Amino acid sequence: MRQEPVPTRSSALKAIPPRRHMGLGAPASPVSDSPVASPDSCFMNIITDKQCADYGMAGHPERPARILRSIEHLQQQSTVPLTWHAPVPAEPDMVARAHEPAHIRLVETSEEAFDGDTPWYPGIAAHALRSAGGAVQAMRMAREGKPTLSLLRPPGHHATRDHAMGFCYFNSIAIASLEARASGVRRVAVFDFDVHHGNGTEDIFRDQAGLAFYSVHQHPCYPGTGTRNVGDNCFNYPVAPATPRDSYRKVLGRALEDLKAFQPELVGVSAGFDAYARDPLAQETLEAEDFKWIGAQLTALEIPVFALLEGGYSKDLPLLIHAFLEGWSRT
Ligand SMILES: [Zn+2]
Repeated sequence: MRQEPVPTRSSALKAIPPRRHMGLGAPASPVSDSPVASPDSCFMNIITDKQCADYGMAGHPERPARILRSIEHLQQQSTVPLTWHAPVPAEPDMVARAHEPAHIRLVETSEEAFDGDTPWYPGIAAHALRSAGGAVQAMRMAREGKPTLSLLRPPGHHATRDHAMGFCYFNSIAIASLEARASGVRRVAVFDFDVHHGNGTEDIFRDQAGLAFYSVHQHPCYPGTGTRNVGDNCFNYPVAPATPRDSYRKVLGRALEDLKAFQPELVGVSAGFDAYARDPLAQETLEAEDFKWIGAQLTALEIPVFALLEGGYSKDLPLLIHAFLEGWSRT
């Protein structure tokens, strides 16, 4: 567990990512005004930066090794051709669409924990901006027809408009979705398969035109919300603890059917891997094969998709992400 001081925001800009170009990896081109491009799933794109592992607390489940071990595994595997990219931090005006000014100030300056799960770390605002920036970049690449996973920490889906909680500070999927809306995408749907309810995304999305939210999660479980639909655009699919895999898949499939009915031009995915049978923070039953299946369902949507890592706390996280990418990259 590394606990040395974290880099400043300016040093975050000089990120040196692991790079490995395979297959069709071409330099990213500027984003056009067109909301969509033809999907090309011959290769996958990963946005990451090892600097996101430069903060942590001993014994905390949301730990640097989640990312470092996942990068290492993905660099060694050979079944999914990957192209690697470094994130650019989110701009302040992007964050301001999703969060109250007082909340942004608190993340930047507070020296007290937000709650028992969510410590304040020196430099956490720079880490959260980098993570949100990775989501924005993944969104832009998806619009260019490049399916992209942002593999960074901290996660974001519990961060509400005015509150850091559940290991989350800025809500990266909401920030990326609002940026998509502001740059010409008419309808953005978020699919959240993290085992915990994406209460922060729901809070930010509620009744916002052009946005819809679909969350499949264990209930009862943290944070205790998500038992019913909220507003006219947030749809919740609570699943009982220890629900058998095939039943869990049916609920995921139902949520995706409902998502399709919204006719989104772009889909953001809060990809949490803690519905895994051996995850220490929940009591569900999914196996690696199920995350591969989820990935394949995303390809079957035939809509541009970007994803970002939310939860997933078992030692098998790298294998689960790999399986997800295998399913998603299948044409
Ligand atoms: Zn979770």
